[in-house]
Amino acid sequence: MSKRSRPRLQRPELPPSGLLDWHSSDHWSTNPAPCRYCGHMTNLRDSRKHPAHKTCAEDAVRQWVQEESEKYQNERLTDT
Ligand SMILES: [Zn+2]
Repeated sequence: MSKRSRPRLQRPELPPSGLLDWHSSDHWSTNPAPCRYCGHMTNLRDSRKHPAHKTCAEDAVRQWVQEESEKYQNERLTDT
């Protein structure tokens, strides 16, 4: 059995404009409402039409991805 080490996967850097593309008018409302994440007022809406800042939504996505990745890593390591 050889002892080859697998190359570590590099996660790509996010573009400076952020993870999400909210240029569509679907993400804008003329009525300000409290952001679902931080509670500060915003005219922006997420993909489900809930009030949310783009940066707050991106932070939530990043956190979700990290948590799911960790779960996957943990399950994969314990199954071997
Ligand atoms: Zn917010």
